[in-house]
Amino acid sequence: MPGRNFLFVPGPTNVPERILRAMDRAMEDHRSSAFPELATGLFRDIKQVFKTTTGQAFIFPATGTGGWEAALVNTLSPGDRVLAPRYGQFSHLWIDLAQRHGLRVDIIDVDWGEGAPSERIAEILTADTQHEIRGVLIVHNETATGVTSDVGGVRRAMDAAQHPALLYVDGVSSIGSIDFRMDDWKVDLAITGSQKGLMLPAGLGIVCASPKALAARERAKCPRVFFDFGDMIKANATGYFPYTPSLPLLYGLRESLAMISEESLDNIVARHHRLAEGVRAGVRAWGLKLCAKAPKWYSDTVSAIMVPEGFNGADVIDVAFRRYNLALGAGLARLAGKLFRIGHLGDLNELMLLGAIAGAEMAMRDLGIQVTPGAGVAAAAEYYRSTATPLPARAAAAVSPDVQQQAPGKASSPRAAVRA
Ligand code: PLP
Repeated sequence: MPGRNFLFVPGPTNVPERILRAMDRAMEDHRSSAFPELATGLFRDIKQVFKTTTGQAFIFPATGTGGWEAALVNTLSPGDRVLAPRYGQFSHLWIDLAQRHGLRVDIIDVDWGEGAPSERIAEILTADTQHEIRGVLIVHNETATGVTSDVGGVRRAMDAAQHPALLYVDGVSSIGSIDFRMDDWKVDLAITGSQKGLMLPAGLGIVCASPKALAARERAKCPRVFFDFGDMIKANATGYFPYTPSLPLLYGLRESLAMISEESLDNIVARHHRLAEGVRAGVRAWGLKLCAKAPKWYSDTVSAIMVPEGFNGADVIDVAFRRYNLALGAGLARLAGKLFRIGHLGDLNELMLLGAIAGAEMAMRDLGIQVTPGAGVAAAAEYYRSTATPLPARAAAAVSPDVQQQAPGKASSPRAAVRA
């Protein structure tokens, strides 16, 4: 199909040209004397994305799932109890992984469309007077439902219960896009993957461990080899890896961190919020609902949009892909067919998103879903226009007389007449 594929799944995200170019290089010796300069810079700089100065970062050639596993097996023993709310497919899969490692998981089932129930967590931890619960597992941004949980609130609940459990946070679809503060929230194990906010291909599972988490290694008996923090700590201390790292991904990560630092994390978080608000304005204009049940749960990286009764979200995705070259995310597990998802994270701007909203709208209309033509696009576009950063003075002067003061079709200045 001619033209660009519009990639709007919530990961993998678009890889910027700069990063593609940075990854396009010949292989080299990962045991050379030059290599540590690359690796040590990454171990240092990635911590800024997690907002930690006290944590230690581990970069595994893996994915987010590998990060989940690394966090658990380095800090826990088979039979240990952990507490985990389940509110979507990813929290479900993490629980499954924990169980397969022999952990006993106290599951709090929550409606899919809501997030981590801080008060319930506080109650359970308060009742655990023997401190048997070793860890609390929270998926910060449940990508399956487009729900963001209040990790700071969970931390406050743990503190209120004066409970020493470790706080494990899956930040796979939040870190680098949504406000995440490892040190402020006293997160002990924070996990992400390379293919979302970091704008890279999949292939890195990154875990940051707090000093408390590192100390927990001493008594943790879960078997571990590939994901052993101990081997990483030894090799990383000299700027190397215990096995062959993925060089293109490491060079890509270096470029990604440079881009994040140039834009600044605060600006990135603000951009994601604004882009997400535009999508939500579009969804409202379509008269559709999000899976997220209340604004406090709205995710700034993915919107899960419920299709009306009698329609199948999978058909919307199929038509969008085959007819308009647009990739949307599917409903997962119990949400299969009930929704489609627009991923809005990573290297993204307003017009790219308007393309995705237009494509989703066209696919829905093709299937007979009653949305007003152009309604979603218009609502999002107007939101973006009305919240745009004012142009710097000179640029504003160059466009304002013609564009901002003329009624359509009534050109009065020579320049406007030429354009018309
Ligand atoms: N956690 C969340 C919130 C995710 O969105 C995903 C994947 O989309 C994962 C974990 C699993 O990550 P991966 O597919 O990189 O193993």
